[in-house]
Amino acid sequence: MTGPGSTSPLYATFSRADVAFERGEGAWLIDSRGERWLDFGSGIAVNALGHAHPHLVATLKAQAEKVWHVSNAFRIPDQERLAERLVANSFADRCFFTNSGAEALECAFKTVRRYHWANGHPERFRIITMEGAFHGRTLATIAAGGQEKYLEGFGPKVDGFDQVPFNDMAAVKAAVTAETAGILVEPIQGEGGVRVIPPESLRALRQICDEHGLLLIFDEVQCGYGRTGRFFAYEWSGVTPDVMAVAKGIGGGFPLGACLATEAAAAAMKAGVHGTTYGGNPLAMAVGNAVLDVVLADGFLERVRAASLRFKQSLAGIVDRHPDLFEEVRGEGLLIGLKCKRPVAEMNAAFRGQHLLTIAAGDGVVRLLPPLIVTDEEILEAVKRIDDAAVALSASSSAALKAAAARSA
Ligand SMILES: *Cc1c(COP(=O)(O)O)cnc(C)c1O
Repeated sequence: MTGPGSTSPLYATFSRADVAFERGEGAWLIDSRGERWLDFGSGIAVNALGHAHPHLVATLKAQAEKVWHVSNAFRIPDQERLAERLVANSFADRCFFTNSGAEALECAFKTVRRYHWANGHPERFRIITMEGAFHGRTLATIAAGGQEKYLEGFGPKVDGFDQVPFNDMAAVKAAVTAETAGILVEPIQGEGGVRVIPPESLRALRQICDEHGLLLIFDEVQCGYGRTGRFFAYEWSGVTPDVMAVAKGIGGGFPLGACLATEAAAAAMKAGVHGTTYGGNPLAMAVGNAVLDVVLADGFLERVRAASLRFKQSLAGIVDRHPDLFEEVRGEGLLIGLKCKRPVAEMNAAFRGQHLLTIAAGDGVVRLLPPLIVTDEEILEAVKRIDDAAVALSASSSAALKAAAARSA
């Protein structure tokens, strides 16, 4: 199944499946033929509250009848309110709203560079990043991510990013020079294959930053906002960054991102230094506050942790049952990776064959990212579909083996 072919006027940048969804309800999507799909991809960790959440729908409709957009040349009360709430619930003192994750990271890079510039060190502009990272698709964020497949053909790589092997603290230390401004990591790599940076490594990064006067930047675009069962993933380690990029779940499907920073880190970001046309507009801020109402409600994050435990235990059973197909379950909360022994594209297609939506990642991993409101019944249904897909795959490969043996006999 492939999507719109060579006659499509769209850029061919996405290889699309030939399915179009018309509506959604919680963890379910309904396609144009009326078929139901269990959505364990959540638009890549975006639909944190599932589809058509009543509180988000009501808020969006009400705001749509008031005002959609005003420029950041004016006060936007809901923007101030969302920033106050984010600051009250994180390490941060300051907040800049964007429309996407990549823009949140661009703001983080500018914040870090400007901090050193304002402190008399304009030569400090380089940022250390980790292999396997994904930070977005702008020219600076592909340089930060460092993946050749995203850099190829786009001219000289934006200068100022130095990559070290994943979770190699000795390499991080060795990479620090007089030009280093900061260190950037995802506490849990999403695209990279649900790879967790251990808490002791995050502590080591914090220590290296403190020793050398560097700023620590976390990319919690994917792992933040309740996805791991804490509001932010860094809370599991107790290590706080100086600057952090957030997006995906923060808008529940409305394009929204944020760069959070300490007072000291953000001090040099004065009037006129940075800007955005759409970022933080009233429509986005109404929805952002509504998402936060739900995520910060009593018991919500506890429920994510309970759902995670149940899901991971069931998945461990699946790995035991199909050692030919699966190697391990990894991740935290509802950011779960299933490490596969077959090509990820093949596994993803097999799950899709059961009308279960999952997301491919690096390192041989299929990502399972259900909406955070997923029920126990839906988790059990997903596990059943994964098991059914595995049984079908094993049956077809043993049939293929028999056929090959028969041919060679
Ligand atoms: C998705 C993602 C980004 C980029 O976000 P966009 O909204 O696509 O620009 C950056 N970092 C991480 C960790 C992501 O998962």
